[in-house]
Amino acid sequence: MHKDIATPIRTQEILKKYGFSFKKSLGQNFLIDPNILRNIVGHANLTKDSAAIEVGPGIGALTEHLAREAGHVVSFEIDQRLLPVLEDTLSPYDNIDIVHSDILKADVETIINTKLADYKDIMVVANLPYYVTTPILMKLLMEDLPLRGMVVMMQKEVADRISAKPGTKAYGSLSIAVQYYMSAEIAMIVPKTVFMPQPNVDSAVLRLLRHEEPPVVVKDEKFFFTITKAAFAQRRKTLLNNLQSQLPNGKANKEAILEALASVDIDPTRRGETLSILEFGKLADSLLPIFKNS
Ligand code: SAM
Repeated sequence: MHKDIATPIRTQEILKKYGFSFKKSLGQNFLIDPNILRNIVGHANLTKDSAAIEVGPGIGALTEHLAREAGHVVSFEIDQRLLPVLEDTLSPYDNIDIVHSDILKADVETIINTKLADYKDIMVVANLPYYVTTPILMKLLMEDLPLRGMVVMMQKEVADRISAKPGTKAYGSLSIAVQYYMSAEIAMIVPKTVFMPQPNVDSAVLRLLRHEEPPVVVKDEKFFFTITKAAFAQRRKTLLNNLQSQLPNGKANKEAILEALASVDIDPTRRGETLSILEFGKLADSLLPIFKNS
């Protein structure tokens, strides 16, 4: 096996050789601890029959661990300066494709269909750039890609919100948006000391796994997300208040909203944070006829 990229000494050597300077604006905090990398990859349960999709390889620290465990790796990197570095550091591996692209603009589905067509088991595994964690996750979830799940490092506070359960402070529209597609749990908390440079915030690895059965099947997904957002618009307000103030003509439709709430047994004085995904699903379906055309 080759020497790990992700030791402090080797990372320093590589950065020096290429005169690389970190760009804060691209969320560049590289991992310098091989044990952490082994643990992250372990949570993805990869075999040689699996493929891994990575966002942001940096100098290849995580990429090489993925290449050792998975059959194939596709990794998206936005920063052109890293391409020659990766060409060098990942040269011992023949099962990696680096795609020079902003993941938010990439056609991931076509890349899966062309580069990973032989793989049924596909996991996203990444140490995400923190400034775009949520857009990246939502893009990958909403594009209906054939993923088993994701093992992704992010700011701990965001991981807490995504994995939060009803009735907690951290629970909100982001928890529901993600948990609608996949189950979410924090797999590990990661200290700042394993990064170069060290970030200002605590980090956590979140494990998402696609539901075998969706927690709720709604008539109109877009409307379901509109309702969850509306319910959390002002957290101190009751569900009824938020729905009335957030939905078009909500005030004029007070009676219809009350009827819809009653039809699915939800007390209008409850707060959004107490509703489960199933309850939000039922509520959205019962409100849909009232707001369908607005
Ligand atoms: N995987 C490496 C590691 O763990 O050491 C680097 C992780 S670093 C937190 C995030 C990486 O994502 C950087 O390499 C950065 O250039 C890249 N990146 C930032 N924004 C991106 C985007 N929109 N699309 C693709 N890559 C991006």
